[in-house]
Amino acid sequence: MRVLIVGGAGYIGSHVCKALAARGDEPIVFDNLSRGHEHAVRWGPLFKGDIQNRADLDAAFVQYQPEAVMHFAANIEVGEGQREPLAFWENNVAGVVTLLGAMKQAGCHALVFSSTCATYGTPQSLPLTEDEPQTPINVYGRTKLAVEQLLADVASAEDLRYAALRYFNASGASPDGDIGEEHDPETHLIPNALKAAAGLGGPMKLFGTDYDTADGTCERDFIHVMDLAAAHLAALDRLTAGAPSFQCNVGTGTGYSVKAVLDMVEAITGRPVPHEVHGRRAGDPPRLYADVTRSRELLDFQPQYSDLKTIIRDAWNFHRKVWGLVEAEAS
Ligand code: UDP
Repeated sequence: MRVLIVGGAGYIGSHVCKALAARGDEPIVFDNLSRGHEHAVRWGPLFKGDIQNRADLDAAFVQYQPEAVMHFAANIEVGEGQREPLAFWENNVAGVVTLLGAMKQAGCHALVFSSTCATYGTPQSLPLTEDEPQTPINVYGRTKLAVEQLLADVASAEDLRYAALRYFNASGASPDGDIGEEHDPETHLIPNALKAAAGLGGPMKLFGTDYDTADGTCERDFIHVMDLAAAHLAALDRLTAGAPSFQCNVGTGTGYSVKAVLDMVEAITGRPVPHEVHGRRAGDPPRLYADVTRSRELLDFQPQYSDLKTIIRDAWNFHRKVWGLVEAEAS
């Protein structure tokens, strides 16, 4: 099957392209390379274009005639969203309006959309089921919720079927080390902890040790990007088999604390993680972990890579290469 991967040069999109190609599908990457990386486009052609530009999208649909779309292109950094809400609403929401118009014109009716557990805000109960009220507490979460609502409206009136996958904490890297997480600036815990362990960029900031959790630090549900990619393929298959639209968490159901992550980083790297304790970061709920019932039922989803050790080992393997530590160790 030919699939247009919007944002396919980014972290999660590139892993999905690799997984699609491995089973014989054809990923076509549509990306403006503003945050993605051309070197991560290896499993099919790159169409350089912008989702806010309808002519770019129309040209890509005409050239490649994809049967389905997966949409990853979005602004994701929570703090940036608070500072630049207009850019977030334009790219994350207006961009999808434009994409849906192009899909309609091209006669393409299946979409897998990257949503997020940030649409739930601070949960009232755990584990988080898909029926938890969606009350996001930041701009990023609100733009993703707005797209879920947009998709529901369009799907109720038009020939569109979609899957909204609500990711928990995407992490890890391809086990062979060819692609991984390369955000700039990097705000995520695991790459920042690895960076500090590698002695690059000074101590890591640890945001908050006074939460009402077992060790005082926040707890998150880390899902390996390989498992996340597998969930996308299962969602695509479900839609293309004719299933109705659905929303679904993608997590493991287990939360690990920030301190547990730092301990594992130390164990895997064999190096201490220099860090400074700071106050809480605005908008961080104390604990987030998924109820996985629906993902098991709808996607037959069983994580294969998402234990913390594998996640951090694969991330470290990737970052050691990117940061030139492999050569340094060899010489
Ligand atoms: N965190 C931290 N230092 C960092 C990055 C993150 O202490 O440099 C904490 C953050 O406050 C949160 C957890 O690690 O409690 C996970 O944050 P991340 O940004 O990785 O993912 P999020 O849960 O925000 O999607």
